[in-house]
Amino acid sequence: MTSILVSEVGPRDGLQSIDRIMPLAAKKAWIAAEAAAGVREIEVGSFVPASLLPQMADTAELVAFARTLPGLNVVALVPNAKGAMRAVEAGVHGMSIPFSMSETHSLSNVRKSHADMINEIAVIAGLARAADVHFAVSLSTAFGCTIEGPIAEDAVVRLAEAAVKAGAMELSLSDTTGYGNPAQVKRLVRRVKAAVGADMLTTLHLHNTRGLGLANALAGLEEGITTLDASLGGLGGCPYAPGASGNIVTEDLVFMLQAMGIETGINLPKLLMVREILVESLPGESLYGFTPDAGLPLGFIS
Ligand code: ZN
Repeated sequence: MTSILVSEVGPRDGLQSIDRIMPLAAKKAWIAAEAAAGVREIEVGSFVPASLLPQMADTAELVAFARTLPGLNVVALVPNAKGAMRAVEAGVHGMSIPFSMSETHSLSNVRKSHADMINEIAVIAGLARAADVHFAVSLSTAFGCTIEGPIAEDAVVRLAEAAVKAGAMELSLSDTTGYGNPAQVKRLVRRVKAAVGADMLTTLHLHNTRGLGLANALAGLEEGITTLDASLGGLGGCPYAPGASGNIVTEDLVFMLQAMGIETGINLPKLLMVREILVESLPGESLYGFTPDAGLPLGFIS
């Protein structure tokens, strides 16, 4: 039986995309409950300055807490080398940096050209190796950008190679904007794997902005992707598409995988109950997903 790693990114991608700040105690309860349901990797936050994202101000405390949960791989997002130093200090098992495939997006978002980003990646890779911390580069806006529109696949392949050369230990393809479609996912996963080695590209980070999230996930699985990012309740929404959901919904993804006989290590009935923590701590916040509303099919064995 195949086994897939479902990486919960809601505490980072979900919470950074909503205005409200989830109290630290609720974040801890959420992370602990997902770990207890069998989730093996959680991105607990982001080491960005609290002045930019006050939602992420307690990330170091969350890392320390999550490290106490047995068997959990604790990861965080870092925007730059300064953030990486804080992440290492906090004790993360792994960290990842978003590397925007759209240079315009990169310049407007983090004020760095592609060349600057490659230099930053090399510095962080050095820090990561010295601290024995896993370091992944997330190739963001790989399927399209809200400023540039379509992104040339040749450019993604070239930048993927540059990131690996600069010291990335693993790559993720990220559909930040929800522009991707399954044919495109298959093509780009195949091309990047061919360029950098099949083992280097393991992960897809998908948003369900246009409803193609699970179709894209399946396309990735068929091309040998082994890690899928998802957010409980699809928390987060999309700043560019009001009313749209955020990341692919963890509950629906786990349902799809387990219904197909793919092992995730997650107890789905237990996972479905974790949603209550979000409902209670973020009253009125939009949550998404079909499985949580419909329930599990009769006779379904998780
Ligand atoms: Zn995202």
